[in-house]
Amino acid sequence: MTVNLSELHTPKSLECDNCNKIIGKVTVKKERLTKSRNGYYFTCDKCGYKYPFAAISDEGERLLNKINGIKKSKTRKDKSKLERYMSMYYKEFQSNYTKEDVLNGKREYT
Ligand SMILES: [Zn+2]
Repeated sequence: MTVNLSELHTPKSLECDNCNKIIGKVTVKKERLTKSRNGYYFTCDKCGYKYPFAAISDEGERLLNKINGIKKSKTRKDKSKLERYMSMYYKEFQSNYTKEDVLNGKREYT
């Protein structure tokens, strides 16, 4: 599944907290997290420091696809639907995660 994150979550142009250089090229990568979530991060192209910026559940990604679809259509009826999906989506989204959240090939215990 391809998720268009660019509209909702654009990483700011930044200076790396770790090496204090400007991060030139932001390439977003995806990794699997615990609790049926996907983590999105990018790394500093100078020192490799990792910046997680979004953890989205599978349900959240499904909602995000709907949201992106509605944004393209723009009829009046869709507006309330969009608001409802957005509020549902924000419950499925976190702006950060830690390395303990990363599955890393491990099997998830439920
Ligand atoms: Zn850096």
